[in-house]
Amino acid sequence: MNAHAPVPSPAAGCDIRHERGQRAVFCGLTGIVWLHRKIQDAFFLVVGSRTCAHLIQSAAGVMIFAEPRFATAIIDERDLAGLADANEELDRVVGRLIERRPDIRLLFLVGSCPSEVIKLDLGRAAERLSRNLHPGVRVLSYSGSGIETTFTQGEDACLAALVPEMPQARDAAPRLLVVGALADVVEDQFARIFADLGLADIRFLPARRAGEMPALGPGTRYLLAQPFLADTARALEARGATRIPAPFPLGIEGTTAWLRAAAEAFDVPADRFARVTAPGRARAETALEPHRARLAGKRVFFFPDSQLELPLSRFLSREMGTALVEVGTPYLHRQHHAPDLALLPAGTRVVEGQSLDAQMDRCRAARPDLTVCGLGLANPLEAEGFATKWSIELLFTPIQGYDQAGDLAELFARPLKRRARLEV
Ligand code: SF4
Repeated sequence: MNAHAPVPSPAAGCDIRHERGQRAVFCGLTGIVWLHRKIQDAFFLVVGSRTCAHLIQSAAGVMIFAEPRFATAIIDERDLAGLADANEELDRVVGRLIERRPDIRLLFLVGSCPSEVIKLDLGRAAERLSRNLHPGVRVLSYSGSGIETTFTQGEDACLAALVPEMPQARDAAPRLLVVGALADVVEDQFARIFADLGLADIRFLPARRAGEMPALGPGTRYLLAQPFLADTARALEARGATRIPAPFPLGIEGTTAWLRAAAEAFDVPADRFARVTAPGRARAETALEPHRARLAGKRVFFFPDSQLELPLSRFLSREMGTALVEVGTPYLHRQHHAPDLALLPAGTRVVEGQSLDAQMDRCRAARPDLTVCGLGLANPLEAEGFATKWSIELLFTPIQGYDQAGDLAELFARPLKRRARLEV
């Protein structure tokens, strides 16, 4: 079978292909770096190797405000050889941690490649530890291993683990749930806009504190704030919640369409919607303007990394006039991405999955003005004269909503500016 055979996608008119082969993507442990800042009384204990500890430390090093709300319980050679009881050791490590950190209310045991290799059942360990530490600390588990997850799928696995913890709503009253970790500043902006639209009962997953996870019931309508939450969405729907389809809230168009989808689901009158969103749209328009000259007509190549690639491409092509050479994405959830796919220019080459060598060849042949990729590919490509943008920065930087639209454009404009200076 031809791995590059196009799959018809009549709705979007994109040229969607699949590739299988060698990948160059971070594992799901990376998500801890932004999640540990979000749930303020949670702690992430990776059960892994020194490699896992290094990965998180170096990823966290990219951030300015790294706080010690994560650690790695190292599985050593004795464990790997089956000579020691890893469960006993884990109980000891957790006991010491909880003694030292009485502020912890929610502890995530995060699985890794080594914990999978020795078949350590972290689900059972979490149940056991939860019983032992009840009622002060709840213990949950999820996998961030590179065998099972890429990069942003760690957040998906974490949020999916939280869904069973969400209390049952006592009634079927309509309520809006925004799903996906957003920077606090972005969350506050959206909460204000929803309040101005007259939506009073609006909640976010994850909540900022373990004991404040929102209630869930048949009246819950949820809006995804991030495009990589397939398992979380499935878990929410299994509990009766309904998804509101929308493009993702990047740029003016994405943010407006995202807010409008919620407003229409809750019968907010169109004139009220227009009045409430007008100031934000105007501010964003002013902020985007200076970056258009730098980005218009430039050719961009996305390697698959964060699953944000499609909405980012839509923003760049429709609002900044950027040309899309190729849009790689590790996974393409057809339903969740349908509204963004439908807005991409007809014929856009979207590649799901990765065959690294083939993709590198296409990138070199195309010589794009800007390449968006993971850290591992950025340095070699820079050395070959390509301007690159680290996709991980798009997760660490607040980029959603009207007031971040200018920052989002700048993230793409900056490497072009730097490259232009180098070439003078
Ligand atoms: S979980 Fe696997 S891929 Fe991720 S750092 Fe640890 S060993 Fe590496």
